[in-house]
Amino acid sequence: MLFDERPKERLRDFYDREEELKLLHELVESCKPLILVLGLRRTGKTSLVKVALNEANIPYILIDCRVFEERIAITSRDFIRAFERSLNSLTKKRNKIVNYLRVVKGVSIAGLRVEFRWNSKERVSLIEVLETLNQYGEDDGRCVVIALDEAQELSKLRGINVLSILGYAYDNLKRISFILTGSKVGLLYRFMRVDDPTSPIYGRVRYEVFLKNFSKEKSLDFLKRGFEQAGMKVENEVLEEAVDRLGGVVGWLTYFGALSLRYGASSETIERTLEEGSKLALQELKNFLRLRPIAEARYKLILKRIAQEECSWRDIKSYIEMKLGIISDSNLALLLKQLLDVGFIEKRGRIYSITDPILRYAVNRYL
Ligand code: ADP
Ligand code: MG
Repeated sequence: MLFDERPKERLRDFYDREEELKLLHELVESCKPLILVLGLRRTGKTSLVKVALNEANIPYILIDCRVFEERIAITSRDFIRAFERSLNSLTKKRNKIVNYLRVVKGVSIAGLRVEFRWNSKERVSLIEVLETLNQYGEDDGRCVVIALDEAQELSKLRGINVLSILGYAYDNLKRISFILTGSKVGLLYRFMRVDDPTSPIYGRVRYEVFLKNFSKEKSLDFLKRGFEQAGMKVENEVLEEAVDRLGGVVGWLTYFGALSLRYGASSETIERTLEEGSKLALQELKNFLRLRPIAEARYKLILKRIAQEECSWRDIKSYIEMKLGIISDSNLALLLKQLLDVGFIEKRGRIYSITDPILRYAVNRYL
């Protein structure tokens, strides 16, 4: 079903990311050590990774770091538990892989459940776990993928150096491939310290798959096929309006489709999609602001100004100064950079904009 809101794993008949899928396929087939899947929220990164890996029949451990989004800090125990959970939801080659892990210190296995010890007496070594997975990969002649979904959240992780692990795996573990996805692209680059010679992965080749929003035609086609599949006749006018108001964000189009199956496809359902969607978008925005209480008022004003219409630095600055008083150029630059890095705003030439129409709606209406 095209309008299924869960990230896709197997369904393939509808897939609209052929190019990116082909690219990711090739990268995992040749077990490239470091792959990034980038794109704004709800552009289909998680789905792409799942579809590609399932099709390539590659065992993968997908660690969902989104769960850490609201956190100020992540402990090593949190991360170990997340790793363990993902390992336990491994679907391909589970038995074989678990068997390999039996010998690793700090790993206990009950039935087919893997448990990592992480207490004052005994701690599993992640490097050893990876070495063992690599050994399995060597013996079985395949690649094992570790996918860190929304990896930038791991910049808050203390006690485990993910970058060093990536660097070590890059240099030594030929059958392990890391895929990092990120909605907050600037933040992800910062976390990886891509330009810092002291970064453990500095100078290593990384492959990137970038997911853009659908074009207008592609969005229309996506909706048409979805409704066709559901056996629903929908007027062109409604489809056009939906695409105009929701943009080419596949997640929002899917959401509109799902709501339409329940309530009928109409302007009201488009409105409902904006309303419901903006709650989600707003929550993400609040998570961001909650971690930055001192600058909150300034961030809000910047977002409000940009949500009104695309605008320049000057426009933003005068808007803030009108409402709050003087703001220095360096301070404004810093705040804009943060917003750019997490992908809430975008900049083309000298013009700032909020490209996600639902986020724009949310800011205009509720911020
Ligand atoms: P991201 O990980 O980038 O935030 P998701 O992969 O979670 O985005 O996708 C958001 C929604 O869009 C999901 O409900 C998913 O089912 C749907 N979706 C994503 N990519 C596609 C695609 N290529 N075809 C159909 N639906 C998709
Ligand atoms: Mg995702």
